[in-house]
Amino acid sequence: RPAAMAADRSRSPTTELAVAQTSAREKITRMACMGLHIFNPEWQNTHGGVPRGKQFSASFKDVTMKIYGTDEQLTFPVQTCTRVLDVKEALCSALMVDPFTLEFLEKRGCTVRKQRDTEEIARTVTVKGLVSFKPQPHKWPHPAGVIGAGYNGLKTLMIYAKSGNSDIVCFDRNAQVGGYCWITAANKTSKLQTEFGSFHVWWGQELVQENCGYPQGWSTWPHKAEILRHFQYAAEAYGILPHIRLNCNVAKLDILPDAAGSTDSMDSQYLLHVAPLDKQGEGEDLVKCSMVWSYPGSMTKNRIVDYPGEEEFGGEIRYGMGDDCPYDKLAKTNIAVLGNGAFAVENVRTCCEYGCDKVYIVTRRKNLAAPRLPCWFVHQAPVPVPGRLVLDMFKPMYDLCGFGDPWTFYAVTASTNRQHVQISQASRFGIGDVTFLAVAYGKCEYVEDTVKRVTRHTLHLNGGRKLEGVTIVLKSLGLLGDFAVDRLHRMKKMVGDFCGGDWRRVLAIDDTGMHFANITTFSTGIGSKGWIQMHKFLFDWPKEFFKMKAAGLMENLPTHEAEEKLDKPAYVKDVKMKQATGMITVSYNPKLAALNALDGDYKYRMYHTAHPTDAILAESIASWNQYQEDWKKLGSTHEYVPYPYTREMIDGWFGEYSKAVGFPVAPDLPAGLPPLQVPPEPSFGQVPLGAETDEAFAAIGHSIDSEHLQWWSMPARSSPHHAFRRKDQYTSEIDGLAVSPPALADSR
Ligand SMILES: Cc1cc2nc3c(=O)[nH]c(=O)nc-3n(C[C@H](O)[C@H](O)[C@H](O)COP(=O)(O)OP(=O)(O)OC[C@H]3O[C@@H](n4cnc5c(N)ncnc54)[C@H](O)[C@@H]3O)c2cc1C
Repeated sequence: RPAAMAADRSRSPTTELAVAQTSAREKITRMACMGLHIFNPEWQNTHGGVPRGKQFSASFKDVTMKIYGTDEQLTFPVQTCTRVLDVKEALCSALMVDPFTLEFLEKRGCTVRKQRDTEEIARTVTVKGLVSFKPQPHKWPHPAGVIGAGYNGLKTLMIYAKSGNSDIVCFDRNAQVGGYCWITAANKTSKLQTEFGSFHVWWGQELVQENCGYPQGWSTWPHKAEILRHFQYAAEAYGILPHIRLNCNVAKLDILPDAAGSTDSMDSQYLLHVAPLDKQGEGEDLVKCSMVWSYPGSMTKNRIVDYPGEEEFGGEIRYGMGDDCPYDKLAKTNIAVLGNGAFAVENVRTCCEYGCDKVYIVTRRKNLAAPRLPCWFVHQAPVPVPGRLVLDMFKPMYDLCGFGDPWTFYAVTASTNRQHVQISQASRFGIGDVTFLAVAYGKCEYVEDTVKRVTRHTLHLNGGRKLEGVTIVLKSLGLLGDFAVDRLHRMKKMVGDFCGGDWRRVLAIDDTGMHFANITTFSTGIGSKGWIQMHKFLFDWPKEFFKMKAAGLMENLPTHEAEEKLDKPAYVKDVKMKQATGMITVSYNPKLAALNALDGDYKYRMYHTAHPTDAILAESIASWNQYQEDWKKLGSTHEYVPYPYTREMIDGWFGEYSKAVGFPVAPDLPAGLPPLQVPPEPSFGQVPLGAETDEAFAAIGHSIDSEHLQWWSMPARSSPHHAFRRKDQYTSEIDGLAVSPPALADSR
């Protein structure tokens, strides 16, 4: 490691060495965290790939850097061999600034000279071309436009508000916030299937604020009315309502080219044609935006399948959505729910609560459904839960209720030893205990078949079976997208999250299906937060996007073109595309992955505050027992079915999970944990929390021996602009940012 410091004769040589080592360690840590490369003197003579004949001095010096025209200054250690270019590179990477705009000025006597990139950095430099040691988000000429004030629109506004950016405007057709899903699609009986903790719209440590703390005092599985109330509450708490225009439709979107006629450049804009929908509304408004966040609202149309003979059926044939369910006719009837998605499972609960005699779930293939406690376990888990553990957690409920062996469902592909599993199913899991209980009671029966035709109160199935005495049919056969969304964006395909491949028009919906080997969530909270943070980061630092683009991002993103025959517009993507898009995008920029650094810790702490282990178990058992009480009152003579999960089992899950993930996770929040802190805003020179630990230092040592050595060994280091090789490509992409690179000759 670098040589000891100058000797202090008042201390013993051993103390002197220890002090020097500690000091060197602190400096190395700081330099590594700043993105400066460490030179190990051992490499000098053994070469280790370092160009022969080059001499590098590995002793340390302190550099004081001032920002021209400001009071900001920073003192940091460097090695003597650190050059101007090395520091510029670190600054550019940390602050996401344009490398060609920086100048380092050194005062020599009564003159000021510009340092060349290849020189050793001076002890005192003034840097020109920086505004601050904190990264500065790009200032766009027009606001961000958000289409939709449902879950995702509100969350986008909240994330902007939290970052101090109020240049945002949102439009929604509804008269209140909350979105199509909960205002229109949900029934008055609909309840959140996942727990509130995994769903609340202020999910994420970064979003927790005075009013919206870890969610407590809300129902664990709230009804529609409470969910709508929570949206309004959050919108008020964050002060975002003034940015939302309700009762209006974004009817048209024009892309306005820049002065040179390009619709691709940073100076192009979007013109939203906003038509008022309320009676007082006058003409159309035209609103210019610099980027568009589009949340068309999942899928908005029922898949309509008509069966021969429906006119003879003589009962009710409905969709079970948007309160079209004939609630007053559900008691003492036999009902057929067609389909097996989450909505079908939810409809079974409604039918059972309204006193039906029997519900048939008629489905081509039986989907996996999740009992409440495994769902809760996934949502509290700090890192993803292996699929095999999830299936094992399902088992006690499946066994008790005669639901089948979860390992044998079509959605499951497992290794023979059942250590590795992939779960892939076309619909989301229905989540809840009541469907299982209803199966155990014989109140609900899964019929794996399809409807051929219908006669009076009878469904004739293709497999030959007849379901007789059925007076209500709820067709939960899935939802379809709306081609109007593709038309609004004038797009034929989605490229990753980008409408028509335009990175400034991003779109998100509830992607269809489930696909996982390890699972982070069954709910909207975490995914929505991460997705919005990722795209906001790119809007805030567009150069980061252009670097990713130059490295081939767009060519590698998955695409989805409209599939007319399947009635599937381009914007309706499945979960596989969503996952691939996320992973590919993040792989192009490690800064994106860092945005979610706190999520695991937040999940665990928030969940064990909002839904502690004993409380969720007690509530699940109480609800399980309540259904049985209710059914008894309705005349059921079925014997009591005990709840299949116990505290001991849950403790066992934590043991298994801890083994699988490699660190202990306690079933109860350990007492005395220091509060989870949001890290301070990043700035150049800052050492992240935990960087001084032995583990972190060992990791730094490892990267010095590999990456740093490799860096010092690069022959390209001899070229002053090796770090900015892609200049031509880079500057042409960011022309719109009005960056004019200084002539290279200047700094040579
Ligand atoms: C009954 C039900 C139960 C659910 N249960 C769960 C659960 O238990 N856990 C879970 O995590 N998730 C659940 N979900 C899913 C979750 O609620 C959704 O992921 C989320 O609400 C989607 O929000 P969104 O903002 O994308 O869309 P939406 O809520 O549909 O909002 C979109 C909004 O955009 C507006 N809009 C669209 N186009 C325009 C335009 N051109 N001009 C103006 N406005 C426009 C619409 O008016 C709408 O208000 C459930 C959904 C439903 C329907």
